[in-house]
Amino acid sequence: MNQPDKWAFMKQALKERKEKELYRTMQVIEGPQTAQVYCNGKRLLMLASNSYLDFCNEPRIKEYAALVLEQYGTGSGGSRLTTGTTDIHMSLEKNLAHFKNREAALVFNTGFAANTGIIQAVCGRESVIFSDELNHASIIDGCRQSKAKTVIYRHNDMADLEAKIRERDCKQGLIVSDAVFSMDGDIVDLPGLINLAKQYNLLSMIDEAHATGVIGKTGKGVEEHYHMEGEVDILMGTLSKALGAEGGYVCGSDTLISYLRNTARSFIFSTSLSPVSMAAAEQALKLLEEEPERVKKLRENTAWFCWCLGQQGIEAKSQSAIVPIGIGDEGKALQVSEKLREQGFFISAIRYPTVKKGEAVLRAAIMATHTKEELRAAAEAIGQAVFNK
Ligand SMILES: *Cc1c(COP(=O)(O)O)cnc(C)c1O
Repeated sequence: MNQPDKWAFMKQALKERKEKELYRTMQVIEGPQTAQVYCNGKRLLMLASNSYLDFCNEPRIKEYAALVLEQYGTGSGGSRLTTGTTDIHMSLEKNLAHFKNREAALVFNTGFAANTGIIQAVCGRESVIFSDELNHASIIDGCRQSKAKTVIYRHNDMADLEAKIRERDCKQGLIVSDAVFSMDGDIVDLPGLINLAKQYNLLSMIDEAHATGVIGKTGKGVEEHYHMEGEVDILMGTLSKALGAEGGYVCGSDTLISYLRNTARSFIFSTSLSPVSMAAAEQALKLLEEEPERVKKLRENTAWFCWCLGQQGIEAKSQSAIVPIGIGDEGKALQVSEKLREQGFFISAIRYPTVKKGEAVLRAAIMATHTKEELRAAAEAIGQAVFNK
């Protein structure tokens, strides 16, 4: 008997993606993630990395991580509640809590796992979650897994948020937002959000993935940026971006952290990160506190890059280290990004579903170690590629 092809739906989905210029591939980097990388043997200026402070390849961080590798070995051997907690995990959590000025902190295996674990633990069927329409996919998945009623409000629009809160009378609820939005690089209206959280007695949760090490005078993140220290109830972030290591974390009250340690499924049922990763994160945190001038340099570099783009006739601005350059058409965004690669610049084209259909962007990410000359050359190449010069 002739059976239908059980793989047909996958083949069809892939074919459709290719036709719509939405097919995904991977770029292979040969060597460390730093300002200059090698890709297919070709040297490229890296303008797409989340390692904003260039900490993935920082000598003092690597030195400490190597020492811990030698002393502790590779894997952690168990989940945090069984055998996977070392003194390095504990001291990192203590330092994170101190860095964010909170009673306690908890490390998850990724930022993604932190968001799904936290939201699922904090919100149940009886809760209402108010979530910004541009929040990260991991927040969206956390909301879905929680089974709470989720209400999406217009991007950073506090009037819309308030109207939506008033529409329902919820006894238990959460407002959740990115601190720095990962594609546009803009910053949450924290004063507005905290005001509403207090007025309506809702918990507030902020995701600092692209904020820690980037915004605030010394890179402490969104509360420092607004001079609103201690205002957010649930402050989560990643160790994998500016800090150049891996993992996610949450900082908050003793009550919150003990509750999550007992209830967050992605924390409980997963082997913990290796002590080496924890050591790298801890050393990165130390370096950030000791040398906040790296954050200043990052800010100056970003402003300079935006100015150089302006000289090319491309309007660009950013409050973080992410500089989006609007392109629109998916195919064109890919072409521009490929042309730039031929000329020695690694810049990602971001397409649906990460951004809306027909709103593809080039997403430039700046590093503290880029030189002014490198950034100017990149802006010139972008100008030429965008305008087909
Ligand atoms: C990257 C990112 C995450 C996920 O963090 P990982 O450590 O990469 O899993 C969560 N939230 C936001 C806003 C992010 O940009």
